[in-house]
Amino acid sequence: MGCSESLNSEVRLIVNLNTPIFKTNRIDHSAPANTSLKDFCAQIIPSNISADYRDSCKNYKVVIKEKNYSINENLSLYDLTLKENDEITIKASITEQKKVEITMKIFYPQPKEVTLNIRKDTLIRDLLEEHPQFRFIRSDIQLDFDEKIENYDIGNKIKLIVLVGDNNCEDIQKWKIKKTGLILEATCMNKNCVAYKQRICLSLGLGTFDIVNEMSGDNERYCICCKEVLGKAVKFGYCHCEIRGNETGNNGSMLEMVERTKDYIEGVLPLNAENYLVTLTELFKSNH
Ligand SMILES: [Zn+2]
Repeated sequence: MGCSESLNSEVRLIVNLNTPIFKTNRIDHSAPANTSLKDFCAQIIPSNISADYRDSCKNYKVVIKEKNYSINENLSLYDLTLKENDEITIKASITEQKKVEITMKIFYPQPKEVTLNIRKDTLIRDLLEEHPQFRFIRSDIQLDFDEKIENYDIGNKIKLIVLVGDNNCEDIQKWKIKKTGLILEATCMNKNCVAYKQRICLSLGLGTFDIVNEMSGDNERYCICCKEVLGKAVKFGYCHCEIRGNETGNNGSMLEMVERTKDYIEGVLPLNAENYLVTLTELFKSNH
């Protein structure tokens, strides 16, 4: 068939490249017409990029007949109506890693503020050097040491509170701090507690939980401030994690529920549920 013949036949294309990221401005390259643009780019880029940019350059754009494509485009040369001696352009560019300005108020016995410009892919543990005794808090959420700044919604000019050991900190109520995973809230009724009549946030971490069971009054929970027994849990929620569970649909069928939150979301128990299983996992699988 003429069609499959033309799909298999080689097309020679003129490829424009930009120096100095690429070693040369212009090459020609032949490939069968059924080659995807993605594979075509994969044949060109590694062998033509300058050694200096091999690791740093991650942004590429392809221009064909004044239209832009990604280098992962699955359309074939044939689909793109490229014919012998047509031109395509692969543009490579270096983007500087964006930095954010973060102010940290560090609660030494004498609190101190520092402002830093840091890359968004900085790990929380690298924000300050003496980290092991520090806790980094942003709006009541304790940031995980092994997460990157960009894994939280931390924009420019954000202020973090840094707790140092048990030092006092007037800027936040420590019993409101939430760590990654399941959070339960229960009230402390100890008159002598700093958090008297306030909701205490308990961090239960990641894992699989039956929320109905966790919320039940049979589970004694203790105040993190005074260690007294708390009232029955009144609320629950999820902090910086992926949440998977099953919910019963209107017709009784089970529906899978998947939610992701960089911050904190309150949970809702299905009506009359006898149990409610959820599995909480890391939001970003360790990629460092
Ligand atoms: Zn208490």
